[in-house]
Amino acid sequence: MVFSDLPIIPEIQSALKSLEYQTPTPIQAGAIPPLIEGKDLLGCAQTGTGKTAAFAIPILQKIHQSGQFALKCQPIGLIIAPTRELVVQISENLRDIGRHTKVRHTTVFGGVGQRPQVAALTKGVHLVVATPGRLLDLIDQGYCSLSKLQYFVLDEADRMLDMGFMPDVQKIVRLLPKQRQSVFLSATMPPPIQKLASTLLHQHVTVMVTPPSRTADRVKQSVMFVDRGNKRKLLDRVLADPQRTRVLVFVRTKHGADRLYKSLIDDGVAAEGIHGGRSQNARQRVLNDFKSGKIRVLIATDIAARGIDIDEISHVVNFDVPLEAEAYVHRIGRTARAGASGESITFCSADEYKYLKQIEKTIGMRIPIDREHPFHSVDAQDGEITEIVDHHRSKKSPNAKSASAEPTKRRRSISGKVRKVKPKPNRNPTKSFGKRSSPKSKRR
Ligand code: AMP
Repeated sequence: MVFSDLPIIPEIQSALKSLEYQTPTPIQAGAIPPLIEGKDLLGCAQTGTGKTAAFAIPILQKIHQSGQFALKCQPIGLIIAPTRELVVQISENLRDIGRHTKVRHTTVFGGVGQRPQVAALTKGVHLVVATPGRLLDLIDQGYCSLSKLQYFVLDEADRMLDMGFMPDVQKIVRLLPKQRQSVFLSATMPPPIQKLASTLLHQHVTVMVTPPSRTADRVKQSVMFVDRGNKRKLLDRVLADPQRTRVLVFVRTKHGADRLYKSLIDDGVAAEGIHGGRSQNARQRVLNDFKSGKIRVLIATDIAARGIDIDEISHVVNFDVPLEAEAYVHRIGRTARAGASGESITFCSADEYKYLKQIEKTIGMRIPIDREHPFHSVDAQDGEITEIVDHHRSKKSPNAKSASAEPTKRRRSISGKVRKVKPKPNRNPTKSFGKRSSPKSKRR
């Protein structure tokens, strides 16, 4: 199938041609015809599947064909997304796809002055692309009313839930007119998301392009077991490969991101950092530099990386294992976009092993281990201590239950031998040393 097989108007067909979109992606092929017909849509698709164009094309087309004027402070279409980066990305897609239409849109998000946003709304736009918090602020101040709304899109609904935006989303939903067309998109469908979808949609069509919680198939994934203290050196090694041209590195905290990108710059690497603590201007500049290739390595936290839409990310490195499996899916979805293939490498230390297990359970596969590096850590691969025994009890008399007995942990090495290791201080004094501290890990 090609785009000209779909009932898309010439104004949009020609824009798609200039964007070099020839074949609709599965979500586009499944969503565009019913949306043009006016049906509601539930799309289960992760980022990188072309989901933005899947709703942007029909909405732009319908507004353009209706010939409606843009009303002051009363948009007829609203697209809600969880982050400002994603809002900007959707807005860029609308601009590119709608360049030959008469549809006007604007963006609304926090962290920047509201004046230009108010000016655009007051001048009149058809479509608003917004994060929930700032939109509610502007509604409260009377600069935006949803009473004339005809099209509503909720993008990345599961991420809204993760980020604690659900109360704001519910408030917005309560302001929507009953007569409208709705699109609901989410990469995963946990029960609260299913519930919200069922309240929003009427006789909808469902398009599922990836089963929930499945990792992007085109991403070649690997895990490198490494002691925490060696992660920085392992990153140097990963970056020493010139094939790794555009590398997105995920860390858990803002401070971690700052520390890492500054130390890379000190070592002469073209690196930058992006996280919620940096100004919107700084984040946009960094993204542009990463897009243009001026920066080779971008260090990011999960939230900041959410809206990154850069096609040629060659590698995603999880410097820290994410605490949630869903974040892993989103992270590695940053590579292998728009049909390209990509690679993700996860650095896992002993204390992160349990999160890795959870991820593997969620994505339904074992992530292949890469041992071809000098920092491979058997301790990390074995995960948390598998067995902790009191050797006074096990080696000496069975009655030797002395309180001062020094407990010893036993760990299985790669060869399968059991060896003794010094115990870490017991962080949980109520936990008995006679028990296993974590489920027995299986050899991989
Ligand atoms: P999205 O999932 O909407 O974030 O889109 C991911 C990337 O795919 C974006 O860079 C789009 O510009 C690109 N894209 C979307 N649809 C197509 C298509 N049919 N052909 C080629 N690229 C596309």
